[in-house]
Amino acid sequence: MMSQLRLEVPEGGEKITIDHGKLNVPNHPILPFIEGDGIGPDIWRAARHVFESAVEKAYGSTRKIAWMEVYAGEKAFHLYGSWLPEVTIQAFKEYLVGIKGPLTTPVGGGIRSLNVALRKDLDLYACQRPVRWFPGMPSPVKHPDYVNMVIFRENTEDIYTGIEFEHGCPETELFKKLLRENFPEEYAKIRFPETSGIGLKPISQEGSWRLVRAAIRWALENNRHSVTLVHKGNIMKYTEGSFRKWGYELAEKEFSDRVYTMMQWDRTCDAKGEEAANAERDEAISRGKLLVKDLIADIIFEQTITQARNFDVIATMNLNGDYLSDALAAQIGGIGIAPGGNINYETGIAVFEATHGTAPKYAGKNMVNPSSVILSGEMMFRYLGWRETADLIIKGIEGAVAARTVTFDFHRQMEDATLLSTSEFGEAIIKHMDD
Ligand code: NAP
Repeated sequence: MMSQLRLEVPEGGEKITIDHGKLNVPNHPILPFIEGDGIGPDIWRAARHVFESAVEKAYGSTRKIAWMEVYAGEKAFHLYGSWLPEVTIQAFKEYLVGIKGPLTTPVGGGIRSLNVALRKDLDLYACQRPVRWFPGMPSPVKHPDYVNMVIFRENTEDIYTGIEFEHGCPETELFKKLLRENFPEEYAKIRFPETSGIGLKPISQEGSWRLVRAAIRWALENNRHSVTLVHKGNIMKYTEGSFRKWGYELAEKEFSDRVYTMMQWDRTCDAKGEEAANAERDEAISRGKLLVKDLIADIIFEQTITQARNFDVIATMNLNGDYLSDALAAQIGGIGIAPGGNINYETGIAVFEATHGTAPKYAGKNMVNPSSVILSGEMMFRYLGWRETADLIIKGIEGAVAARTVTFDFHRQMEDATLLSTSEFGEAIIKHMDD
């Protein structure tokens, strides 16, 4: 028989609230967590120990986290017969900020991905993924020290919406009929209409605005130098092209006194020539303005490798952001160290998560790298305003890696490094917080 579904609210913990867009974080905040499937329990165990040690080292007994386990994935399915119980969604809505490990994507059963479902149900539109290199980490590029980017990936639109029509289904035939009868020119563009599956790609003005707004605000608050809008607008004019256009418009409308856009550069260039436009841009940058520029999605994969120093904050749509964040992670040690946060800056709801999957072949072996979920926690503490805790986590990871004490994924790429298990690596991080 399945257990009764209920939240075990920890005693003594208090709720995080939000007031006019500002989080109120009590000293004993209740933080929901999802342990995750596969390697989830291994990395969560190590991460939780690191988080609790960092909080204690930073604030003594003044502050403490009241963890509240909530369920999704295989554990939820075995306990409650549901891959993503409603009570889990409710917990994040009520307690606002939490963290999760990786989840298995159930095969069949109508759920495309639990992660996508969670992000959509909670309207977590900004997927924030920092990509930075720590000295000592293995890298295939000559200058991983040039890599310090933060990707803002739109999380709720694009082809991830899941509006797809499979070839051969009656719905697909109906959809093609609608297209053929109402939009014959568009229908004629389909190369093999009889055998095509079809997907839709919605990109909205509101969706683009809120994502670009979040990226620019974050860049300004964190003294970054540029925001690059990444798109394939040369081909997909009214989706990705519109994202670019709306992004520039928003930047000029809402941040006119704090940014300089390459749209402005284009206007000045048309009116007064390139030299004048360059002078205007350089003058704006010298006065500390944030540069808002754009780049086509394919060339960014080349340029973030060959000219990494030119990139800082990147704002883009769902699919581009998905590809780009894994590609960039390769430069700084791989996906075992790539953190992420899914945030709605208006409701305050945020779920931080390891960006890799459940790596089932390593499950229960206490050998994988827990850095992804640990650095996701670091982002979470910064989001909560617990800066001292976040700084200690960074210090601990920097120290452990600099001492060349690492898990197998780094070890196999390094010479003369010491191999540690997941839990030993967690202990090493804690030890180096005192360096
Ligand atoms: P994956 O679980 O990310 O694993 C792919 C490979 O990445 C592993 O075999 C391993 O490489 C490396 N890796 C991942 N995490 C690591 C860590 N912490 N430390 C060291 N190495 C790590 O991807 P997958 O095998 O494609 O997906 C497995 C399941 O996870 C699927 O059910 C998928 O749907 C799900 N998934 C969930 C999320 C999420 O919850 N956010 C994201 C992606 C996938 P080596 O084999 O080279 O050692």
